Amino acid sequence: MHISKKLEASRANNTPTYSFEFFPPKTAQGVQNLYDRMDRMHSFGPTFIDVTWGAGGRLSHLTCEMVRVAQTTYGLETCMHLTCTDMARSKIDDALKEAYNAGCTNILALRGDPPREKEQWVQAEGGFRYARDLVKYIKAQYGDHFDIGVAGYPEGCDDETGADEHIPYLKEKIDAGGSFIITQMCYDADIFIDWVKKCREAGIPESVVIIPGIMPIHTHASFLRRANWTKCHVPPHWHEKLEPIKNDDVAVREVGKDLIAEFCRKILDSGVTLHLHFYTMNLAAATRMVLEELAVTPPSDTHHPDIKPLPWRQSLG
Ligand code: FAD
Repeated sequence: MHISKKLEASRANNTPTYSFEFFPPKTAQGVQNLYDRMDRMHSFGPTFIDVTWGAGGRLSHLTCEMVRVAQTTYGLETCMHLTCTDMARSKIDDALKEAYNAGCTNILALRGDPPREKEQWVQAEGGFRYARDLVKYIKAQYGDHFDIGVAGYPEGCDDETGADEHIPYLKEKIDAGGSFIITQMCYDADIFIDWVKKCREAGIPESVVIIPGIMPIHTHASFLRRANWTKCHVPPHWHEKLEPIKNDDVAVREVGKDLIAEFCRKILDSGVTLHLHFYTMNLAAATRMVLEELAVTPPSDTHHPDIKPLPWRQSLG
């Protein structure tokens, strides 16, 4: 089922929902571990999961395989990331065909990061320049079969395009056929809320759900690394709370859980969205802790594929 349709239904019920991002692990054991984790995380009741596309198609066979297993074996609504990096049209055709054959009906269409060994992003011969062009192509080839998501940047795109400057390009991606937006990770709820308002003022319709990308806090070092890498603003009181306990991973996860939950509550209460997207980093614990803190998921020892999230406002009392 299309993600935008699922989100429309949860909006009609005024129910917060969530989704999980995974990436293809490098080893066979890592893949097996991830499948076990996916199976466990299924019981949290995500609306969908998505699987990233490696820079330049690195491990792309695994992305397609993980999408197939998640969609068909675990029955998870799955969204496949697809990028333009080093992708000639024939490779894009192959990837779309694999997704189609796996019963996947959702694609996150991206320009893509540059390959690891290159600093600058270069258009592949016979490939596409911008995510917008990939969105158009998927629409032209598959009509409405795929629901197409695109990336948004509340704090500017990583190759130096500022947040405001990127909004018209984001609108182009929606006009080309994108129907939902997932953002780069963000830790400052006010920045996210203001940016969503600007997107609406720029003409991105309310029917296009804008989903905040949320990176749970696993360790202090990984938190700082990811925040620095994406140049996202960290509210000062987060540093004040995390810095004194930085060498105690258990305490960092506990305090981190409270901070992320505070961020989520503020966004949900603002009414700009009812959906939360977690960059799981293929780990379950930190995401589960946040969901349990928000009281939107059943206790971790239950396992049922059809679990419905608890009513948000009631459960918060
Ligand atoms: P675009 O929207 O095409 O933008 C690329 C650049 O071009 C930006 O600077 C933009 O401002 C500029 N631009 C866009 N349109 C125009 C135009 N018409 N004229 C002039 N300039 C323009 N990367 C991966 O490699 N694999 C993944 O799986 C992956 N998943 C991601 C998931 C999410 C939710 C997000 C937010 C990012 C993800 N990325 C991934 C990273 C993403 O590929 C990079 O951030 C990339 O640099 C931009 O991709 P985009 O799709 O936003 O590109």
